[in-house]
Amino acid sequence: MSPIRLAGRVAEVQPSATAALDAQAKALIAAGVDVINLTSGEPAFPTVEPAAAAAVEAIAEGFTRYTPAAGIPELRAAVADHLNRHGTAYEPSTVVVTAGAKQALHHAFTALLEPGDEVLIPAPYWVSYPHLASLAGGTLAPVHPAPDAGLKVTPDQLAAAVTDRTRVLLLNSPANPSGVVYSRAELAALAQVAVDHDLTIISDEICDHWVFGDAEFTSVAALSPDIAERTLTIGAVSKTFAMTGWRIGWVAGPASVAQAVTALQSHTASAPSSIAQKAAFGALTANLTTELEHRRQALDERRRTTIKALADIPGIEVGGDPEGAFFLLADVSGTYGRRTQAGSTITSAADFAELLLAQSNVAVVPGADFAAPNHVRISYTVPPDRLAEALTRVADFVAGLAVGPA
Ligand code: PLP
Repeated sequence: MSPIRLAGRVAEVQPSATAALDAQAKALIAAGVDVINLTSGEPAFPTVEPAAAAAVEAIAEGFTRYTPAAGIPELRAAVADHLNRHGTAYEPSTVVVTAGAKQALHHAFTALLEPGDEVLIPAPYWVSYPHLASLAGGTLAPVHPAPDAGLKVTPDQLAAAVTDRTRVLLLNSPANPSGVVYSRAELAALAQVAVDHDLTIISDEICDHWVFGDAEFTSVAALSPDIAERTLTIGAVSKTFAMTGWRIGWVAGPASVAQAVTALQSHTASAPSSIAQKAAFGALTANLTTELEHRRQALDERRRTTIKALADIPGIEVGGDPEGAFFLLADVSGTYGRRTQAGSTITSAADFAELLLAQSNVAVVPGADFAAPNHVRISYTVPPDRLAEALTRVADFVAGLAVGPA
């Protein structure tokens, strides 16, 4: 036992459940077990080619030194253009480039929260939000959807949860983990709660590209000038361009916030990687419309396959309408009380995930850390043949469960 005493704020932080399950699945795969990993938080596509080419060129040219703290000017401009496709009016000077959306969120919370401040958030929500908020001294105040509301919350529910400590409304549409996409009208009504109660909005729009069916992506800061002046938009190249490992994201918002975040970043990271910034610039400025649309359609196909297969499994129900991102939540509470072939009884979604992995070699993430305790999160990004095999294994696993006392 080391004599080193950790600070309280860090001792509380647990590794993310997604990362833990992903690591467990990868360890089994490395040991030669035929595990199908449906825990992943990234599309299974290669990084877009212009990003890689730009990075190679950056290295060859010796572009390997510190950059300005807020990012290289051409990338800030490219991000502003990228965001403004959705109707916002960002200037390059109001964009700060960060090491992924995660660091952008960390900077945003650190810049905004005083100890004890509350962050209002529709549940279910992404696992890292509570930890990011608490590291900055705040706490998450989840607002839970009504049972038959399709995993969406209403403005009245949000308004009822506002206290005198509420400082931020955190929105994330398309949502991780549910894949739910709020419509423009729904988002406008939720954002209005922030206007009425003088809250800052942080809108995590990292999955803006991954929207399917009739759903449409809406950027919150594009809703109205009243909303834009109190909104910080978070995003990244991570998911859209399959660049999760490159670590480039951004926060865009009013000039005062951009300046504060730049100062924060100058002392904590200096700046994101110079090479990765060039790669992100390469991705954002190349003409990738056809390729990205191809990828979007491929994921939509996998999404439909997954929804259809799960609908046929008695005891499992898809939560809400997963029209975006690349995840969905499956309510597995219908399997509670049933027993596996090895005699274990399922009493929770965590049991379901653990026993499914142990017996059928399919890894999914239990929903407790997403505030979805009866659900498991399924990431449907794996190639179609593996996805089909995984869904067959899930169906067989559930069909093989015994009902009633042993
Ligand atoms: N926000 C959401 C909703 C996410 O799902 C993720 C990654 O899983 C992130 C932010 C972090 O993204 P990045 O890899 O760019 O830090």
